[in-house]
Amino acid sequence: MKDIQNSRGFMGGLTPSATLAITAAAKALKARGVDVCSLSAGEPDFDTPEIIKQAAIKALNEGKTGYTPASGIMELKEAVVEKFSRENGIKTTPAQVIIAPGAKFSVFSAVAALCGPGDEVILPAPFWLSYEEIVKATGARCVIIGTRPENNYELLPSELEAAVTENTRLLILNTPSNPTGAVYRKETLEKIAAVAVAENFMVLSDEIYERLVYDDDKPHVSIASLNDKINELTITVNGLSKAYAMTGWRLGYLTAPLWLTKKIAAFQSHTTSNPTTFAQYAAVTALKEVDAEVEKMRLAFAARRDLIYSLVSAIPGVSCIRPQGAFYLLCDISSFGLSSSEFCSKLLDEQKVAAIPCEAFAAPGQIRLSYACGEDNIRKAAARLKDFCASL
Ligand code: PMP
Ligand code: GLU
Repeated sequence: MKDIQNSRGFMGGLTPSATLAITAAAKALKARGVDVCSLSAGEPDFDTPEIIKQAAIKALNEGKTGYTPASGIMELKEAVVEKFSRENGIKTTPAQVIIAPGAKFSVFSAVAALCGPGDEVILPAPFWLSYEEIVKATGARCVIIGTRPENNYELLPSELEAAVTENTRLLILNTPSNPTGAVYRKETLEKIAAVAVAENFMVLSDEIYERLVYDDDKPHVSIASLNDKINELTITVNGLSKAYAMTGWRLGYLTAPLWLTKKIAAFQSHTTSNPTTFAQYAAVTALKEVDAEVEKMRLAFAARRDLIYSLVSAIPGVSCIRPQGAFYLLCDISSFGLSSSEFCSKLLDEQKVAAIPCEAFAAPGQIRLSYACGEDNIRKAAARLKDFCASL
């Protein structure tokens, strides 16, 4: 008998996303009336700004409900080009831009168009858990390089250089980082860019948290803006989910060199086709007209960052770096002698606090706390976490 349940492909063997599963479980407990403090969700607690919703409604009323080109509408590509130029110093053209149903799919399609069996993809750890699964889905091999809190969790250029082989195809960078909250310094990016140019491999720079940076001495820098050579080797990914509170709208985008954009567009044309049509029209409004609301949300996240860091870093046995961007605090809880999964499941059972265990982020012994929630929730969760740690 044939074993029809055992696929020979790469895609059937992926591990489900723990972040999405834990976030959904915490929401379900809350809906059942359990007093859960959730620090698990990687999504803003804010609603999408009204002007963006109105733009979607207008597009629907105007009958913008059919297919668009698979890689997105020209108005949005032009708005993205404008945004990359104005805010990031990245030179690109509409033909090099692909709009996708979420930044996760932008990452997926870029890796799929670029990598396959025999290729190596370098991942600085801790990393967002989907990168490893996406690379596995293509049949390429992950080469994981650990980073350290004393270096602000930045990839050391010397360690990158040592890991490069003939098969190195891609390096995935994420600044500001999920889960560390680190923002890469320009000088580090310059050295990483020099290695990529010398060794001739591509860089995927996931900048989805770019607008959420909190320290004047740590501005966001796009690696593709550093010089023309690295621009020709870089795929810059961004999206609407985080800065505009639009996680459910599913809109991401990327820019890449034209030779690669053509492959990604072909891939997208056979997989998702275009992202939702009226959502694309709303995204034009978001990119062009919604700065003030984004700034209001950023200031709220900045205050929450200060609050959660001061409360949690004071808990005996827990250590963390002060995040400079995104909305996560990565905490080392290895002093308690539990794995991060054991720690998180006991924390949920005993104190009703939902946090993300970071084994799948290649950060065993660490847990991730999201501060994309109200200050009362942060205070309550931190007090419960403190009691829990004291009980261990
Ligand atoms: N990159 C990183 C680092 C993320 O944390 C997320 C969050 N889901 C994404 C990409 C994808 O975002 P989305 O698909 O919602 O645009
Ligand atoms: N990126 C968010 C997180 O890390 C959302 C969930 C996901 O897509 O992984 O929690």
